[in-house]
Amino acid sequence: PLPIVAIVGRPNVGKSTLFNRLVGKKTAIVHDEPGVTRDRHYSDVTSRGRRYTLVDTGGFDPESDDPMRQGIKRQIDVAITEADVIVCVLDASLPPTPADHAELDLLRRAGKPVIYCANKADSQRAELELTELYRLGARDLIPFSALHGRRIDELEGAIVAAL
Ligand code: GDP
Ligand code: MG
Repeated sequence: PLPIVAIVGRPNVGKSTLFNRLVGKKTAIVHDEPGVTRDRHYSDVTSRGRRYTLVDTGGFDPESDDPMRQGIKRQIDVAITEADVIVCVLDASLPPTPADHAELDLLRRAGKPVIYCANKADSQRAELELTELYRLGARDLIPFSALHGRRIDELEGAIVAAL
């Protein structure tokens, strides 16, 4: 069996866009409306001569006002159970939310390698604006853009290094 890499994060941070980018084809359903990715999507990925199974997690409750009820806890529980490496996707275009703090608290206790990254860092300016996210306390935070492919190489390198 291949090592499992799970992508976790709040609705709309760009998990499915990242999944598609890493898989290299349009496998996952990506949509502007939160709540589209209800099931998990799996795809085998080859990167730098290494193979792994990538998981795009969904299945949150978009009706809920409680950020933790929006499936982040469930996503992370599943990821902690089944994944060998967890990719925690944050949103570089927004200040950190209470859900982000809760998510990082859970992940710090995961006992699994976690790669922290900030999507939607579409430009160098966007990258500078993500300084607020450092308040979450993730030491290594990789800014990238799933949509434009910016600094995806760096993220892929971090994933392969963690396998
Ligand atoms: P998910 O809910 O976490 O799976 O997020 P999606 O992949 O469905 O993306 C949510 C929205 O963010 C979509 O409108 C995407 O086009 C947009 N998005 C994803 N990646 C980027 C990015 O790198 N930059 C910008 N500006 N938007 C992005
Ligand atoms: Mg999705």
